[in-house]
Formats: sequence, C-alpha cells, structure tokens
Amino acid sequence: MKCTICKRGEVKPGKVQAEIKVGSDHLLVPVEADVCAECGEAYYSTETMRHLEQVRDDFTRKTIAPPSIGHVYQVS
Ligand SMILES: [Zn+2]
Repeated sequence: MKCTICKRGEVKPGKVQAEIKVGSDHLLVPVEADVCAECGEAYYSTETMRHLEQVRDDFTRKTIAPPSIGHVYQVS
C-alpha cells in the first residue's frame, strides 16, 4: 500500500506512539499502526481508533493516571 499523504512512501505495519490531546495534556499511547516509511504518517485501524478513544475517556474520567514523562512550556 502507498501512502496517501506523500504518495511516495510504502506503508508498513509497525509500532507508533499515538498522540492524544486532552485540553493542554498530551497522551502518548503505544499502538500498532500502518506507518509510512517516507513521511511517518500513521494509519490507524478502526479498532485502534476505538482504543484511543477509550484511553481518552479513561483519562478524562481519571480512571487511569499514567506517569508524566515531560512538561509543556509556554514561551511568549
Ligand atoms: Zn507518506
């Protein structure tokens, strides 16, 4: 399968860190996806999208409290 974003790269299954934004928080979730070797665009399956929505839900409801690995700094 060819990438629909850059139209050059070959898309192959791999592991990526999906990024979810919840307000000013960013969640990094390791998932399986089809990744473009050229531009790095990741294509998620419906199942993975559901999983990511579940994670966002859990985080919003504070069902899960993953450790923070970094901070966001606002430079003005
Ligand atoms: Zn691409």
